[in-house]
Amino acid sequence: MGLYRTDAIVLGHRNIGEADRILTLFSPVKGKMHAVARGVRRPHNHLLGGTQLFTYSNFLIMESRTLDSISQCEIKESFYKIRTNLEHMAYGLYFAEILRASTPVEDKNQELFSFFLKTLYFLQEWRDLELLSRIYEVKLMAIQGFAPEIFRCVSCGEKLVGKMRFSPALGGVLCARCLEKDVKALDISRESVAALQIFIKKPYRELIKLNLPENIKKQLKNITHPFILHHLDRKLRTLDFINDINCLGVQTGLTGGK
Ligand SMILES: [Zn+2]
Repeated sequence: MGLYRTDAIVLGHRNIGEADRILTLFSPVKGKMHAVARGVRRPHNHLLGGTQLFTYSNFLIMESRTLDSISQCEIKESFYKIRTNLEHMAYGLYFAEILRASTPVEDKNQELFSFFLKTLYFLQEWRDLELLSRIYEVKLMAIQGFAPEIFRCVSCGEKLVGKMRFSPALGGVLCARCLEKDVKALDISRESVAALQIFIKKPYRELIKLNLPENIKKQLKNITHPFILHHLDRKLRTLDFINDINCLGVQTGLTGGK
């Protein structure tokens, strides 16, 4: 038992006791992990800044048989733009929830860490957060080993021709000859398949200017959510929060008319 240092992003926290907080951290060397920040809710506590939600910090942590505890932290990137905008905050919470749900504790994954950190930088700047969500969902599932099969038929492996449908259960697109393999498969157009292919192939910096028609975006949402929920096999609480925020946006103009 001793002290160790690690960079990590704060994925979530919950208050315990009078002034403590248990953090869910995501570290490039330890994966998803938990640690307690003792006394952090007291005024002017030295751990407060570096343990805010989404903050990327360098932590000095004391090992323990039960729960590691944070001794010091130094902010590397505060991501305050995410925390100070309700809409960005809602999507950030959603991104963190899918990451947490799809990642076991202490499963080191440097590629996943770099991807999530990059996502937070783009979340601060991205305008169409629904589109960013679709791209994030597909890229995340691909890194986690559940890439949807969108380049060939998921059943027969042949090239996609004619009418197609998307099967969340089988994990990809069914060609015209294989439609009966999943009677619950969902409608998907050739344009939507092309969009999913671009999401996988292109980096964020090339996708940030992408404009998709509303009908395609709607269809993609109807496909990616059942696909993710099928793999995670649990309800995502933050989806309700996003829906609430978007309803509020319609009434107040908060979301820039989206
Ligand atoms: Zn087929």
